[in-house]
Amino acid sequence: VKSPRPISSIPKARLAGVRAVLTDIDDTLTTHGKLPAKAYAALERLHAAGIAVVPITGRPAGWCDHIARMWPVNGVVGENGAFYFRYDAAARCMDRVYSQDAATRTMNADRLWKIARDILKKFPGTAIASDQAYREIDVAIDFCEDVPPLPLETAQEIALALEAQGATAKVSSIHVNAWFGAHDKLGMSLRFLEECVEINDQETVSYCGDSPNDAPMFGYFDLSIGVANVQPFLGLIEHPPAYITTAQGGEGFAEFADMLLKSR
Ligand SMILES: [Mg+2]
Repeated sequence: VKSPRPISSIPKARLAGVRAVLTDIDDTLTTHGKLPAKAYAALERLHAAGIAVVPITGRPAGWCDHIARMWPVNGVVGENGAFYFRYDAAARCMDRVYSQDAATRTMNADRLWKIARDILKKFPGTAIASDQAYREIDVAIDFCEDVPPLPLETAQEIALALEAQGATAKVSSIHVNAWFGAHDKLGMSLRFLEECVEINDQETVSYCGDSPNDAPMFGYFDLSIGVANVQPFLGLIEHPPAYITTAQGGEGFAEFADMLLKSR
């Protein structure tokens, strides 16, 4: 496994060719849970420079509606790739594009909730996550956010129990997220790029992230950037980022944005 090089070693020409910046939100745009002004300003400056800006997140649809509407972004991929939202300012309407049609989503939701209710009974101390009301596709089981923390092993057992029922399950630091369907962040990101900004190649796209769940994105995009706090996870990441910033979280993202804008 190759260790990431400092972002200062990215060739100038490579930076100058970037047409889209995809970025994780938690611990990549945020620092200790907050979105610093620097990171938000970086999004705004990139967007103003004509670069497509697209957050890619596991966060719920309700948040993504707000982000697509109000942030300086071209759109957002949410709930681990279940959809993208894009606000069309000229037409004054929100485009909501899902990986599954409405009938499939309803059917999957019914199946998923049956399984989720069993999980709550089988694993005492878990609860449906507080942000569930704002989700459309996945169910989030809380094991560490608003319930007294349960060990990570319990979360892994929950994920296995969900997978045994045919669901996809992902363990984050606070929730186990589960859904039916083959979607993922990478597939929906590529769809967004093609359908919304007419980008079909990965060479002109960069991806910023911070953790093992960003590995498929780091692996796909050659110009992959880890913010400095990715360092402790490097041994655990199947595809580490190609480059790393010196600053953490949102400040690290701003550092990369500065470099990108200077290359124009
Ligand atoms: Mg993250």
